[in-house]
Amino acid sequence: MASHIVGYPRMGPKRELKFALESFWDGKSSAEELQKVAADLRSSIWKQMADAGIKYIPSNTFSFYDQVLDTTAMLGAVPARYNWNGGEIGFDTYFSMARGNASVPAMEMTKWFDTNYHFIVPELGPDVKFSYASHKAVTEYKEAKSLGVDTVPVLVGPVTYLLLSKPAKGVEKTFPLLSLLDKILPIYKEVIAELKAAGASWIQFDEATLVMDLESYQLEAFTKAYAELESSLSGLNVLVETYFSDVPADAFKTLTALKGVTAFGFDLVRGTKTLDLIKGGLPSGKYLFAGVVDGRNIWANDLDASLITLKSLEGIVGNDKLVVSTSCSLLHTAVDLVNEPKLDTEIKSWLAFAAQKVVEVNALAKALAGQKDEAFFSANAVAQASRKNSPRVTNKAVQKAAALKGSDHRRATNVTARLDAQQKKLNLPILPTTTIGSFPQTIELRRVRREYKAKKISEEEYVKAIKEEISKVVKLQEELDIDVLVHGEPERNDMVEYFGEQLSGFAFTANGWVQSYGSRCVKPPIIYGDVSRPNPMTVFWSTAAQSMTKRPMKGMLTGPVTILNWSFVRNDQPRFETCYQIALAIKDEVEDLEKAGINVIQIDEAALREGLPLRKAEHAFYLDWAVHSFRITNVGVQDTTQIHTHMCYSNFNDIIHSIIDMDADVITIENSRSDEKLLSVFREGVKYGAGIGPGVYDIHSPRIPSTEEIADRINKMLAVLETNILWVNPDCGLKTRKYAEVKPALQNMVAAAKLLRTEL
Ligand code: GLN
Ligand code: ZN
Repeated sequence: MASHIVGYPRMGPKRELKFALESFWDGKSSAEELQKVAADLRSSIWKQMADAGIKYIPSNTFSFYDQVLDTTAMLGAVPARYNWNGGEIGFDTYFSMARGNASVPAMEMTKWFDTNYHFIVPELGPDVKFSYASHKAVTEYKEAKSLGVDTVPVLVGPVTYLLLSKPAKGVEKTFPLLSLLDKILPIYKEVIAELKAAGASWIQFDEATLVMDLESYQLEAFTKAYAELESSLSGLNVLVETYFSDVPADAFKTLTALKGVTAFGFDLVRGTKTLDLIKGGLPSGKYLFAGVVDGRNIWANDLDASLITLKSLEGIVGNDKLVVSTSCSLLHTAVDLVNEPKLDTEIKSWLAFAAQKVVEVNALAKALAGQKDEAFFSANAVAQASRKNSPRVTNKAVQKAAALKGSDHRRATNVTARLDAQQKKLNLPILPTTTIGSFPQTIELRRVRREYKAKKISEEEYVKAIKEEISKVVKLQEELDIDVLVHGEPERNDMVEYFGEQLSGFAFTANGWVQSYGSRCVKPPIIYGDVSRPNPMTVFWSTAAQSMTKRPMKGMLTGPVTILNWSFVRNDQPRFETCYQIALAIKDEVEDLEKAGINVIQIDEAALREGLPLRKAEHAFYLDWAVHSFRITNVGVQDTTQIHTHMCYSNFNDIIHSIIDMDADVITIENSRSDEKLLSVFREGVKYGAGIGPGVYDIHSPRIPSTEEIADRINKMLAVLETNILWVNPDCGLKTRKYAEVKPALQNMVAAAKLLRTEL
């Protein structure tokens, strides 16, 4: 019985690649030094899998930035603006595409399916001259081979590559990207030929777009592509790998009928219908790569349960054709539990990071082959039972409260009447100005937080330092004459971590990093138990800030959906249940803030859109519980308490009704890229009556917008919106900017609002 790993994290157990990349980019180390770090990481990963007993070990899943960009390099599809002169693509061109250079901006980046990984979007058109310009796949295969490891080279499949591309600048939006198949397949053939010559006996094509809602002409592209590749692939075993969901029935038919393909990989964790599909018919004689070990989460596998699934599959495909695998690449989980010496041992026994998942896959394969490691299985069963029965996981009171499905939770008064009641209390001018929450985080501020955490300064000293910072921020906002103030969030490192650390049911890792894009990683908290709020979390700082000013001070909270979507979530209850629990905890906080005299409370839902499921048919269900969770947080406040929410994206068109259904009093949203897209949101907003604050300038750039420019933007919005609902604010929080940028930018923003007030 064989074992397989779809892909492995590249960053290294201590983010070695991140530091090597950043040092190289800063000119502090050479290309050779970077290559050396990368080669060491690759070899240790291959050896680790080989030592664990994995039979099908992937290669070419390493990347200096991104596997889709690697494919763009392989195909020589470099956009003209990077002035590439042909030949093998080197670091210069590669990193220019990824990050831009002094004269040319980077290529666009977007989310990889429904993960938090971002890939570089290929820009293609009829004029692209494809050529075989990066031999990385072959070089890596050979490199592993020279280390004594025969690997399965992995390529982004040709159809998925095109489906994830966008038409280049200047090319019609309707350009049929799939028409480029004929041009890229010859290059895939060259790569395949070289891999064969180098001795490869297997090849893996990642074609995860097969799990999405595809149209029949898109499915036909798969049929066509693999028929075209069939003769080049002869003599190889060919695995087409899918992940992140089940493959819809029509796509399953297409997939399993592909010419030249001898193996199929399926996600059996997220693909809830995959088992039925397989039972319904897999062509005989083909390999089944069964992804039973979750690549998207950090939980130890329930080995006994997986074994039962695998045995039933064995009955269908035969034991020589079943391969135990991961549900997707392990890129989306943390790297190695070994580096978590401080993590509570009980919680640790419930977890498996990438390195541990490799061992699980192998243990399952051996058990199927009749060589069950009894000690390993029984330790796993003990851990599973301890997780199920631990009082730290289950909090009966919270569970009861979280059984909220079916109820509605809506504030009794409609938004227009609420806004009237609030205006009587707040007495704001038209076009009220505000900011999104954070103010610049200086090195000094980070030092104070770090030293407090390390117990190097006392609580008293810490509180004093933070209060001083808040007072500075409050004074600045008063000087700038902003209408609704914020405290600046100086006590927060991260908008999710800050709350997670104070809620029960959360655990934190020291090195549980997951690549987000390029060298950037995030360290999601782990939600392991029922969530509750033992003590108020923000009331102390918010009331301190309010005491420093007569102007309204916004309380600042992270919403339940965002906390959920930016964490590793429990897999022993539905996501919505965990979300409802977080919502109830935030509700307690909202009500305590109100009691403490805070009249405006912002509940950020920066990541609401991110949680949208891959398939359209599942959107409604997600949006329903996500929006419901948000409403739970503030259903208990008085009409006179103004609830704001903030979202970090501007493409709302498809979810506008859900946004309105959140029933917030004021919605502030990102709007840096395109005013047009927001028009429909504006119109709906007018109908709804809530306050709307589309960002009037982009905080992601150090550029300082002029008063005229901001006034012009506001005027454009006023052409569509009623004056009395428009708010004036930046795009997002200011935490990554410098005061030298923030001060003049906000000055101009307030000046623009004042200018327009006189004209209205
Ligand atoms: N209140 C947060 C801040 O200003 C919001 C951050 C975000 O939307 N990503 O930093
Ligand atoms: Zn934001």
